[in-house]
Amino acid sequence: MLATQEALNQFVEDTGGWVASQLEACTRCGMCAEACHFYISSGNPAYSPVWKMELLRRAYEGRFTLSGRLKLALGIEKPISDSDLDTWRTIDYEACTLCNRCSQVCPMGIDLGSLIHGVRGALAAAGEVPKDLEDATQKQIEDGSPLGVDLDAWKDRMDWIQDEWEVKLPIDVKGADTMAVFTSIELMKFPSNFAYIAKIMEAAGESWTISSKGREVVNFGLFEGSTEHTILFLKRIFDAAEELGVKRVMVTECGHAYEALRWTSFNLVQVPKGLEVTHIAGVLGEFLNAGRIKLKAGAMDDNLITFHDACKIQRKGGHIKEPRQILNILAPNNFVEMTPNREDGICCGGGGGVISIKEADQKRFDAFELKIDQMNEIGAKRVTMACSNCRLQFTDSVQHFDLDWKIYGLSQMVAESLEE
Ligand code: SF4
Ligand code: SF4
Repeated sequence: MLATQEALNQFVEDTGGWVASQLEACTRCGMCAEACHFYISSGNPAYSPVWKMELLRRAYEGRFTLSGRLKLALGIEKPISDSDLDTWRTIDYEACTLCNRCSQVCPMGIDLGSLIHGVRGALAAAGEVPKDLEDATQKQIEDGSPLGVDLDAWKDRMDWIQDEWEVKLPIDVKGADTMAVFTSIELMKFPSNFAYIAKIMEAAGESWTISSKGREVVNFGLFEGSTEHTILFLKRIFDAAEELGVKRVMVTECGHAYEALRWTSFNLVQVPKGLEVTHIAGVLGEFLNAGRIKLKAGAMDDNLITFHDACKIQRKGGHIKEPRQILNILAPNNFVEMTPNREDGICCGGGGGVISIKEADQKRFDAFELKIDQMNEIGAKRVTMACSNCRLQFTDSVQHFDLDWKIYGLSQMVAESLEE
């Protein structure tokens, strides 16, 4: 019961007025269930968003409300046990990507994503983090990378990318305007992203750099729900930005990293004064609209192509117009929208750390079937996106389901279609 006590302590610590108001406001209408890709794809009521915050509700009511205490005293409600923690670990880490689609439909305006993140926090305090996620976090603490790429291996990789794609990657340039922060998914699975972004930056004449200290932008502390680790990884990026004296940090192709730096950071750490945090999707729009880059019109207009909206970049970040602006230039006759799209887009199923948990594979593949349905409905076999985590889920799922699709990164499309 020691683990349960840790979780309860964390719940009590977290249960301030805001959490109480959110829990009290829930009418148990169940509308959030219909928004969740894990629930829709499985029909499993345990995956409905409201159930994912059930532990938090029980802890709150049992501790802070008369009815909750009565229910416990009369045996109508059972006290939270270690086996409950086991059960909710598989629900809150493996069947939630923190995509916040549920919050969008809740008629009471309940921020389910944040509450579920709070449940993860309590599970983390109880030592109930899935092993794969915990290992990746440990590697990020020790090596600076959840995939275990230490500084020497990172430098080798940078040299290799520069040779392979014949590009210049400016590293640790003091006084550059923009510090680009990449993920280890890009480094190991989509290394060409470094080259594509280098080409775009050069074409736009941007003064930019990559930091050897702030070299990993994905925040596994956020996935875990551990505030301590979230702060540690955020500080690495902000300290690097301050040391180099840059004006802005540009997250390349990652949604959750963008969330951590763009919003979570301001509640947890001292963000260097005046430092802007932006995403490559926004920067591409900025360069295009300022005439700093030009694209070959119709360069990808030979077949249907669609866009996958990433939860943190489009739904939360609002970078909805820029990818569509790019696609309307590159494929003016063949860009088709999936339905639903934009802020209502359905999550790919791999975010929130889910893709790094082996036991969750079946759940994320099941959830991905919704994307297959969306693609089939419009008959598209080409899709692009601005998040490398989504891209990994797409490429992995395409292999799993043996689909003949082509998956592009947004920066890739732009870099390959630049007017010389
Ligand atoms: S939609 Fe909102 S009010 Fe309805 S069950 Fe879900 S969280 Fe509660
Ligand atoms: S945040 Fe997304 S994955 Fe998590 S419960 Fe809500 S809709 Fe489902």
